[in-house]
Amino acid sequence: MSQTSGRQTPKIFCIANQKGGVGKTTTAINLSAALAQHNQKVLLIDLDPQGNATMGSGIDKATLQHNIYDVLISQATLSEATVYSEAGQYDVLPSNRELSGAEIDLVGMKDREKRLSLAISESQRQYDYVLIDCPPALSLLTLNGFSAANGVIIPMQCEYFALEGLSDLVNTIKRVHRNLNPKLNLIGLLRVMFDSRVTLQQQVSDQLDAHFKEKVFSTIIPRNVRLAEAPSHGMPGVNYDKASRGAKAYLNFAQELIDRVKTASV
Ligand code: ATP
Ligand code: MG
Repeated sequence: MSQTSGRQTPKIFCIANQKGGVGKTTTAINLSAALAQHNQKVLLIDLDPQGNATMGSGIDKATLQHNIYDVLISQATLSEATVYSEAGQYDVLPSNRELSGAEIDLVGMKDREKRLSLAISESQRQYDYVLIDCPPALSLLTLNGFSAANGVIIPMQCEYFALEGLSDLVNTIKRVHRNLNPKLNLIGLLRVMFDSRVTLQQQVSDQLDAHFKEKVFSTIIPRNVRLAEAPSHGMPGVNYDKASRGAKAYLNFAQELIDRVKTASV
């Protein structure tokens, strides 16, 4: 069933966690592809100079005509820089190493935290969902993501140290909500790379449930090798091996998110 008629303001969600390698990009790519399979029109914004979300969507970051950096410094419009991911069936605002210069270039600019928000407001309305893959830092780039978004999804591994950084991240979201973007909310915590056989993971998972309650998504993404293999084929895992446990989990997660957005004041 297509949701395209009656499309209103898109849901703009950052996938963020300042910890490295926790599954942000894997979540951004697979959630984009899974939402597309649920007939949602999706834009995936790669806000990380590593360009992993770009490559994992099957787009060569080395041969881009334009990239997100051009958009942030007003050298290209969103629609000029956007490319279509055949492998994922969604649009991508791609990134590469050039974006690493943005941190320095943006500092002297007016509304430096709002560049992304200003740049995408022009044509964001054609999408149901805009997902922003953030870099592993609470940097000016991530602030641009938070200023443009109305929600944050935090993927996390259920490990002891995962909880440590979480309060910094939640406090940053609160500060941005107060000072820069009153629309920003924590949408939820997503447990990823989960292995229920590991007692500590189960314990941390229970702690998350107890502390964050309904902010913890009930879908859990398992550790699944097919999800890890997919990027080297330039494909989202949900399309690379539809029958895999990882693919099914991300499809369920997309459905849970759609339901949550419908019922909650997101
Ligand atoms: P960075 O902070 O560098 O941007 P990240 O948070 O975006 O990293 P990913 O790149 O998504 O993290 O994942 C880190 C590694 O873990 C990758 O090699 C990825 O393929 C693998 N990975 C992510 N999720 C899963 C999973 N559910 N099962 C197995 N491997 C996974
Ligand atoms: Mg990443």
